[in-house]
Amino acid sequence: MEVKEVYSLAAKIQDAFDEPACEINRRKDASTRKKGCSKPPTPGAAAGGCAFDGAKVVLQPITDVAHLVHAPLACEGNSWDNRGTASSGPMLWRTSFTTDLTELDIMMGQSERRLFHAIRQIKEAYAPPAIFVYATCVTALIGDDILAVCKRAAEKFGLPVVPINAPGFVGSKNLGNKLAGEALLDHVIGTVEPDDAGPYDINILGEFNLSGEFWLVKPLLDRLGIRVRACIPGDARYRDVASSHRARAAMLVCSTALINLARKMEERWQIPFFEGSFYGITATSEALRRIAELLVKKGADTEILDRTDKLIAEEEAIAWKRLESYRPRLKGKRVLINSGGVKSWSLVHALMEIGMEVVGTSVKKSTVEDKERIKQVLKEEHHMFESIAPRELYAMLSEQKADIMLSGGRTQFIALKAKTPWLDINQERHHPYAGYDGMVELVRQIDLAIHNPVWSDVREPAPWEDDPAVAEQLSSPHTHSATASVAPLKTSRLDAGDFAEC
Ligand code: SF4
Repeated sequence: MEVKEVYSLAAKIQDAFDEPACEINRRKDASTRKKGCSKPPTPGAAAGGCAFDGAKVVLQPITDVAHLVHAPLACEGNSWDNRGTASSGPMLWRTSFTTDLTELDIMMGQSERRLFHAIRQIKEAYAPPAIFVYATCVTALIGDDILAVCKRAAEKFGLPVVPINAPGFVGSKNLGNKLAGEALLDHVIGTVEPDDAGPYDINILGEFNLSGEFWLVKPLLDRLGIRVRACIPGDARYRDVASSHRARAAMLVCSTALINLARKMEERWQIPFFEGSFYGITATSEALRRIAELLVKKGADTEILDRTDKLIAEEEAIAWKRLESYRPRLKGKRVLINSGGVKSWSLVHALMEIGMEVVGTSVKKSTVEDKERIKQVLKEEHHMFESIAPRELYAMLSEQKADIMLSGGRTQFIALKAKTPWLDINQERHHPYAGYDGMVELVRQIDLAIHNPVWSDVREPAPWEDDPAVAEQLSSPHTHSATASVAPLKTSRLDAGDFAEC
C-alpha cells in the first residue's frame, strides 16, 4: 500500500493544533495556538480518555475492519464500547484484537514480530478488507515502527494495513480524534476509485450512528435521490471510506472530532462542506436544504431544491402533528439542557416550540453561530452558561428550578440525588434522537421521564423523617454502623467525592 504523506508525529500534532477551520483556534494568537487545546485535568476530576482512546472511538465504527491494538492487554479496555454505535451488517468491529504484549516480549525485542504475526492471524482467520493497527504508549515508547511493520504486512498479505499513530501520551482524547482523521487522509481516503460516482453523492462526517440514529435520517436522503457515499465513521465500510474522495459535498456533524478531515478533503478533492445538525426539526430541515444547495453548486440539477422543500414541508407537518399530543402534557414544564455543541440551540428551539420552558442551556463547545441562534430563540441571555459547577447544579435541581435535566451520563447522579428526572442525550444514550422521527422520540422520552410515578414517591419524606424517635436514634453517635449509613439520605449532604466524575 502506498503511503502518500509521511509526517513526524510531532508535526502532525502541531498541524492539528493549527486547524484554521476551527473557530476557537482562529481567535487565538500564534503562541497560544501553538500550546494546543489540552487543559490539565482538574484535581478530583476524571481526566478523560487518552489520544489512543480518541482515535479508537472515531475509527472503531468502521464495521468491517479488524481493529488491532498493539499494546499490553489493558489498553484494549478503552472507552469505545460505551458508545452505542450500531452496524447494519458486519460485526467484525466488535471483536477485540490486541497483541497482548508481556514484559518478556518487550525485553526480548519481540513486539514488532508479534504484531506481524497478529496481522497474519487476523488475515487468515477473518479475511477483513483492512486491518487498522493502533500504536499505544508502551509500543511507541519502546520505539516500535508500526508504519514499517504495516507497510511490510500490507505487501506480504495483500490487504491494506493502516497504522494509527496516536499513542496515549501525546495528548487528549480530542487530539486522538483528529489524529484518526489524519490517518484516514494519509492511508485510506482516495485509495479506491469508485465506478459509480454520481452528482448526488455526499459524505456525512463526524456522525457516529449512536443507537442507530442515522438510520432515521438516511431514508430522507434516499427519498431525495441523495446517496451517502460514506458516513464517517458510523456504520461505515472500508471501501466506502476509501472512495469517499469522489463525493460532491459533505456535512460535518461533530466538528470537534473531525473538522480537520472535512477541511482537508475540501482542499484536496474540492468537496465543500458545512457544519450542521440533525437534532431538532428546524435543524434537520436546514441541514437537508444546505446539502441540496451544495450539490447544486457542484453541478446537480436545481430541481432538487424544490423536491427538498416539498419533503421538508411534508415531514415537518407530520412531526409537528405527532408532537401535538405531547403539548398539553409538557406545556410549561421547565427543562435544563446541560449538553452543549449543536444540540444547545437545536433542542432549545424544538422544546420551546412544544411549549416547554428552557431555564438554562450550556453553550460549552458551541460555536459563535450556535450561541447567536440560542440568543435569538431564548431571548434571555442569562439562561446560557459555559459550564456549571456540580454544587450549583445540585442546588438548582434540588430547589426544583427545573422539571427535567437533559445531559450526559456524567451529571446524571446530580439529578438523581436531587430527585429530578433526567434524560441522557449524549453519546451513551439508548434512544435515537436524530431527524424528525428522532425529535418525536426525544419528546416522548422526556414525557415518560417527567411523568414517571417514581418521582412523587422518592420526594415523599422517608419514614424516619416523620418519626422523632427514629430520627434521634439515627443521629445518636452510638447508633449501629448499619443504620448510621442511612443518615446522609436524610440531609442530602454532598461530599466532594460525590462529584469525582464531574
Ligand atoms: S495508550 Fe497509554 S494512556 Fe492510553 S490506555 Fe494505553 S497505556 Fe493508557
